[in-house]
Amino acid sequence: MAKLLEITQLGDPILRTKAEHVDDIQDNLIQRLIDDLIYTVGVVNGVGIAAPQLSESLRIFIMASHPNPRYPEAPLMDPIAIINPGIISYSDDINKDWEGCLSIPGMRGLVPRSNTIFVEYITREGKKEERMYEDFLARIFQHEFDHLNGMVFLDRIDSVKNLITDQEYFKLIS
Ligand code: ZN
Repeated sequence: MAKLLEITQLGDPILRTKAEHVDDIQDNLIQRLIDDLIYTVGVVNGVGIAAPQLSESLRIFIMASHPNPRYPEAPLMDPIAIINPGIISYSDDINKDWEGCLSIPGMRGLVPRSNTIFVEYITREGKKEERMYEDFLARIFQHEFDHLNGMVFLDRIDSVKNLITDQEYFKLIS
């Protein structure tokens, strides 16, 4: 039975720690962690969550895109676990868009990201995948990938002036 676990908040050193490679994906504890991540991101209606946000310093994150006020065209997908990921290449075309983070509540930042990335990762079944992500999914992937390297979106903004409160963000998108 998956559990709702507390999400680590900015200031917790685990969010600033490089996460460890996952050796045995079939281990029950790893599979249970994946279930907990999927359950938690669903309860909070997020589009992604990384293992360090549930206090586990492991190279696992979940992508769980769904349409939302900011991205009505965002793809609806069953949540997928991305394990031991790598970003093989980044497009030169960069776009800036607003990001939030479950570990940094109440704030949004205008974050530059590559529009297209080519990635590799292992699925929770242990299968190696290589694929391209674009637009919103590429943004989620890059945001969550940063969490595995001890980075948060605040590290990516060009200026603190590109940081706003949720209250102002919801005015912008309404
Ligand atoms: Zn985040």
